[in-house]
Amino acid sequence: MTKDILVIGAGISGITAAVEAAETGYSVILVEKNPYLGGRVVQMNRYFPKLCPPYCGMEINLKRIRTNNKIRHYTLSEVQGITGNEGNYEVTIKVNPRFVNEKCTACGECSLVCPSERRDEFNLGIGTTKAAYLPHEMAFPYRYAIDAAACSKCGACVDACKYGAINLQMQPETIKLNVASIVMATGWQPYDAGKIDNLGFGKYKDVITNMMMERLAAPNGQTQGKILCPSDQKEPKKVAFVQCAGSRDENHLPYCSAVCCLASLKQITYVRENIPDSEVYMFYIDVRTPGKYEEFYTRVKGDDKVHFIKGKVADVQQDGNGLTVVAEDILSGNKARVTVDMVVLACGMQPTLKDSPSVGIKTDENGFIDHNQNKGIYAAGVSRKPQDVSSSVQDATGCSLKAIQSVVRG
Ligand SMILES: Cc1cc2nc3c(=O)[nH]c(=O)nc-3n(C[C@H](O)[C@H](O)[C@H](O)COP(=O)(O)OP(=O)(O)OC[C@H]3O[C@@H](n4cnc5c(N)ncnc54)[C@H](O)[C@@H]3O)c2cc1C
Repeated sequence: MTKDILVIGAGISGITAAVEAAETGYSVILVEKNPYLGGRVVQMNRYFPKLCPPYCGMEINLKRIRTNNKIRHYTLSEVQGITGNEGNYEVTIKVNPRFVNEKCTACGECSLVCPSERRDEFNLGIGTTKAAYLPHEMAFPYRYAIDAAACSKCGACVDACKYGAINLQMQPETIKLNVASIVMATGWQPYDAGKIDNLGFGKYKDVITNMMMERLAAPNGQTQGKILCPSDQKEPKKVAFVQCAGSRDENHLPYCSAVCCLASLKQITYVRENIPDSEVYMFYIDVRTPGKYEEFYTRVKGDDKVHFIKGKVADVQQDGNGLTVVAEDILSGNKARVTVDMVVLACGMQPTLKDSPSVGIKTDENGFIDHNQNKGIYAAGVSRKPQDVSSSVQDATGCSLKAIQSVVRG
């Protein structure tokens, strides 16, 4: 019988589950669909509430993976199907080609000669990269990849690579794994702001999402950390944050994503630090900052250039003066109309499994996984419910113990 534990998804939850089980002596296989480990948190500029860069903690976790021979990891890999029972699951995984092997030194010559461009996924479409690209500057593994969909197969990168690291003939592989238990840590994707008709995303360039704001403010982003309006590359002097953009709305996401208020409060500090003469407006239904996070809210509220307006935004319109945000101001009873240079939509977290039912895991109607329905399969982090990083880490540590118990029972 197998004793291996499979962890699907290598965000902070999957990485935590993997290292906790491996450091207890169990063999773990960690499967990630991106060309790098780390998930969404490596796209963040800073973490609330301490406002430290996420790489401080992530680097320690990646070292725990690098130095532990009980963990095997696969990138660019996706689960295609799961069959079997607790103690004896058969899992089919498709490993997509990277076209770049471990001889890569990340010298970047391939990218310099590459003639093709692709959307910069890591930066949420703010800018482009070459088809031969390093996923991001702290990527693990620290190795280039070639995007097959964008590559013209001209071969210039093969000729430019002094290390023989590129092979454009690599093919996808299918591997079958036999494992005793599975930790699902497939996380989330941002809710598609283009589906919200009244808030102007996709129509007006300076209406951006909260994840785009993370990448605008990040020193390793396309603007090197300068918060600039996409329309004219100028600093916005007035910025509106629109809470519950799609969340708590039966037409979009019926639930609260739990972190968006805190994410916006954090991003308000990015704007106020980057642009000291800026003014910020936050439109909210309720500001949700549970437990210890209340102090962070109080701190941001103490800034007299930050204005809170209680009311659901009805409309965002653009004219020659900028973007006007329209809402009922519930506390004053008046209609609020505030004209700003940039609007940031606080879009919620939607579980990634919502879009891949083929995996064979039971989820609730919103796509979150309930462990009780899937014996021997445990869900950690945002694949189970919307939560922040520290709660995801605790959740994943608990899942690791559950996965070990399945191995022992099996
Ligand atoms: C705008 C914004 C800002 C935030 N800022 C903070 C903050 O400052 N502090 C904080 O505590 N929290 C913050 N959060 C919440 C934080 O992002 C989450 O708590 C965290 O990402 C949860 O990690 P996770 O590992 O569960 O999911 P993810 O980070 O989504 O990782 C899941 C991983 O699984 C992979 N995956 C998905 N499907 C498959 C598959 N089928 N096969 C293989 N791999 C797969 C994905 O590629 C990804 O790498 C923020 C959220 C938002 C929306």
